[in-house]
Amino acid sequence: MADKRDYYELLGIVRTASKDEIKSAYRTLAKKFHPDLNKDNPKLAEEKFKEISEAYEVLIDDNKRARYDQYGHAGVASDFSKGGFTWRDFSHVSDLEDIFGHDIFSDFFGRGSIFQDFFGTRRWGGFGQPEAHVKRLQVEVTLEQAYRGVSTEVAIPHMAVCTECSGSGATKGSAPKTCTNCNGKGEIQQEQLQGFGRIIKIGACPVCGGRGKIIEHPCVSCHGSGEIQRLDKINVKIPPGVDNGTTLRVTADKVAGKLTEDVYVMISVQPHPLFHRQGSDVYLEKTITLAEAALGSKVDVPTLDGNAVMKIPPGTQTDTLFRLRGSGMPHIKIRGHGDQYVRVIVRTPKNLTKRQRELLEEFQTIEKEKIV
Ligand SMILES: [Zn+2]
Ligand SMILES: [Zn+2]
Repeated sequence: MADKRDYYELLGIVRTASKDEIKSAYRTLAKKFHPDLNKDNPKLAEEKFKEISEAYEVLIDDNKRARYDQYGHAGVASDFSKGGFTWRDFSHVSDLEDIFGHDIFSDFFGRGSIFQDFFGTRRWGGFGQPEAHVKRLQVEVTLEQAYRGVSTEVAIPHMAVCTECSGSGATKGSAPKTCTNCNGKGEIQQEQLQGFGRIIKIGACPVCGGRGKIIEHPCVSCHGSGEIQRLDKINVKIPPGVDNGTTLRVTADKVAGKLTEDVYVMISVQPHPLFHRQGSDVYLEKTITLAEAALGSKVDVPTLDGNAVMKIPPGTQTDTLFRLRGSGMPHIKIRGHGDQYVRVIVRTPKNLTKRQRELLEEFQTIEKEKIV
């Protein structure tokens, strides 16, 4: 760990850099170190790519960045896999998609490269070699739904033959006419003078737009295209534990008759008003009273599985982090759950009543005597 480079240095930014500056630095470097653009030394590029992605993972997240600023690499070690950062720990797949377009997936699929463990964790359902034109949809779920898993209906747009005109594009009772300009071929030859000779070019017929037919009375339903968009509703089972960027593949053969090709469903998990998620762990803040902190108590704490009772030991300081083992998000591939961390905030009482003031003054007198 001693030779680990500083994250700010890796991204070439100052310590006060804004989120936009971090994003733009990562974007530039990600493009530079894309393994496909570094054919002479793809291995080194992959390593660099991973290094900057680790730095990005930490610095783009306020919580991780704060811990890194205070404690260095040790402050974020627990966010990563045991041996250090792996692609499993990277939660900003959608940012990579923004940078490289959707092709990042087809590029890296089945390459047996750095992304293998990443895809191994994030995707399931047996990935083959998907075509470049696969359909992708985004589905938003709440943290509670991500916790329990949810079955949700997804509408998949798909082009189908127009039933009104049976695909001819012409309104009922009329038929498309053969284009006289191209004699129905859809293309025409054009002679062009070039230098001393003439060349013949073949291009789409400008009269019929290359269709070979002219529709005088277009179908009102499809506006003459012969196709209409249909929405196929299918049920997608979202397993417990999904995170932002988790991509599910819905295979066509499993929803026979509905899907003609596989569909990729990318999950996005809405931010939660109470819980802050980090991988499989969730964080929560709980305010307690001065007396509860000093005397110790049992307090109710919300978890994703209902309320839990948490023991506050006597003499608890503000900012103390308690762990509720197994109350975090379910792991996707292995059994069990992450943990829930509860940060305790001790509230100093305001607007004291006369009696409270008396008691606290008396308390203060005793405290002072104890110190002397
Ligand atoms: Zn024509
Ligand atoms: Zn039609």
